[in-house]
Amino acid sequence: MAKTTIFHITYYDYDKSVYIQFLTCNFSCLGCIRRGYLWDHHYGNEGSLLGKSRVELLEVEKLGEILKIVERELGLQRAVLGGGEPTADPLFCKVVEILSGMNLEAVVLTNGYLLDKVVNCIPKGSIVEVSVKSIHPQKFAMYTGRSADDLYRVLRNLMLVASKGLRLITETILIPGFNNAGDIELLAKYIAEHVNVDTPLIIDEYVPVPKTSWRRPTIEELNEARQRAEKHLKNVIVRSSYTMKPKGNVYLVFPKQII
Ligand code: SF4
Repeated sequence: MAKTTIFHITYYDYDKSVYIQFLTCNFSCLGCIRRGYLWDHHYGNEGSLLGKSRVELLEVEKLGEILKIVERELGLQRAVLGGGEPTADPLFCKVVEILSGMNLEAVVLTNGYLLDKVVNCIPKGSIVEVSVKSIHPQKFAMYTGRSADDLYRVLRNLMLVASKGLRLITETILIPGFNNAGDIELLAKYIAEHVNVDTPLIIDEYVPVPKTSWRRPTIEELNEARQRAEKHLKNVIVRSSYTMKPKGNVYLVFPKQII
């Protein structure tokens, strides 16, 4: 049996979705939330009980079996792929095929770098949320551990996704003192000029992780970033702990199945 890099699956009852997490990533972002905590943080403190010793990789054949049990017992409508980097998994296209075979809406959360390699296996109508860490090549390189040139591949892939009948969402993080409101405005301008003004942009709040000195932005700083991005794009969303409340219940599916 072929192993994926999937190590964690959680179920959200409010929208009947699973969040499928991949262990590995081709970036090494300074602000990656997984530097502090490996498991789905929406799953709460129980995740810490899992510990690193519980990490095991799921065989691709087992993914379909597990999802069919979830569908039968709880109902299942969508699958969110994240992590980690889903597109860095050599079995990514097989995983997407399994979701497609079950008529699940697929949402791919990605750093965008490998999208040109896998875009043709993502079903039309799927949501692809591409995170652009910074519009400045040097900041991008410093934050991600990649080269400055790699930013251009990510940006080219935004246009590629939009041209393939996929639902592109862009995302970035407001990091005071690093990726500021002015940087986010430049990113919004780039998206408006090179993709289109209707492309959604999500501005996430930076959550401090170990070994970085950046702080969490205030709600005023988030609102300023939104207002500046809205000069260029029609659909700008702030995703932050100030405004978002947990929805419904979250259950562990893998490594320990709930049923
Ligand atoms: S691309 Fe995402 S998962 Fe990968 S290191 Fe960066 S923040 Fe973490």
